[in-house]
Amino acid sequence: MRIRIITLFPEMFDGPFRASIVSRATRDGLVDITIHQLREYATDRHHTVDDDPYGGGAGMVMMAAPLADAVEDLKKSARDANEPDPTVVLLSPQGRRLDQRVAADLLAHDSLILVCGHYEGVDERFIESMVDEEISIGDYVLTGGEPAAIVLVDALTRLIPGVLGSEDSAPSDSFGSALGGRLQGPVYTRPREWRGREVPEILLSGDHARVERWRDEQAEIRTRDRRPDLSGSPDLGNR
Ligand code: SAM
Repeated sequence: MRIRIITLFPEMFDGPFRASIVSRATRDGLVDITIHQLREYATDRHHTVDDDPYGGGAGMVMMAAPLADAVEDLKKSARDANEPDPTVVLLSPQGRRLDQRVAADLLAHDSLILVCGHYEGVDERFIESMVDEEISIGDYVLTGGEPAAIVLVDALTRLIPGVLGSEDSAPSDSFGSALGGRLQGPVYTRPREWRGREVPEILLSGDHARVERWRDEQAEIRTRDRRPDLSGSPDLGNR
């Protein structure tokens, strides 16, 4: 998968993409992520990318022209590399709410351009003319799209076949196909007793069929207790 990210703050991606699964997937060539500084597409000597809102009001608005030039340039790079035309995604609190199914849908697009907004938001004419999809990571407002892009890239990367080892595979995670879209039940590791709390006896039995039945029951109970809205819902897209 190819992901290009347009941002005013490239340094925000340094830590998250250099650790754990995203870093390993990048090293193994399963995902290719590049970060692009929006200011490089400004046309004045101050590298201006935002201006006052028409009609007045607080905050600055990101201008359409540098954003459009950045997207067009990145699309050209994709064409030159014989890649599929990238899908342009704007991170926005007003977008489709990210969940496992949305992540799986986005994964089907082999090439993405993620646009991170900032300040008061992005000139609507850029959205109308160049954005294929707006994605929100939840009903709260972030300062910028960067943390949302990091969340989205992480959620997508762990769904790419070959990224997760068998020890931490996506289908048995919450929302996964092995759980029928439900929450995963509790998990335990050594020691067998900790501060007076015992690991459930059945997990020590060595009887795999009984363990699987118990896990299934626990998934059912937990989902009913915590997320009744998910009970009986189909697999949400974890493979
Ligand atoms: N004025 C905008 C509004 O009311 O919808 C919010 C702008 S917000 C301060 C700045 C940028 O952060 C947005 O353009 C978007 O890129 C990003 N952002 C904020 N909250 C987000 C969320 N929940 N999901 C995804 N991106 C978000």
